[in-house]
Amino acid sequence: MDLPLHGSCLCGAVRYEISAAPYGQADCHCRACQHATGGAYAPVLLVPAAGFRVTGPMRRHVVRGASGNRVARAFCEHCGTTLYAHTTRVETMRPVYAVTLDRPEIFRPELDCWVEAAQPWVAMDPALPKFPRDPPARLAEFAKPAAD
Ligand SMILES: [Zn+2]
Ligand SMILES: [Zn+2]
Repeated sequence: MDLPLHGSCLCGAVRYEISAAPYGQADCHCRACQHATGGAYAPVLLVPAAGFRVTGPMRRHVVRGASGNRVARAFCEHCGTTLYAHTTRVETMRPVYAVTLDRPEIFRPELDCWVEAAQPWVAMDPALPKFPRDPPARLAEFAKPAAD
């Protein structure tokens, strides 16, 4: 994966840069991601917080997750595109919604999480590991950066 990566919201007012290799890449099927993105699931890059810089007019919506953690999702205050999340479960990581990348085609999901909330009409890759809810935190925090 060539760094840095760049991305933006639909209107372009919010832009971000990813300068550190993601801990991993996942498809999240939780209901909150479904609502926040308007999609059946959210493809997310698990980006080290220290390697994520974002600029532009944003607002945050905060929910308390099933596990009691606070999850904030940041969206452009002009166009409403949700760009990334911030969970107290893993403070060092920002899940960035991969479809907002300038080059979303580089995304390579490595697992499916929150599959207990997955829509029955979604076809998942049977070869990927599946987690009923969150994957183990160490996966997000300590997994080796994906090789290219
Ligand atoms: Zn926007
Ligand atoms: Zn989710």
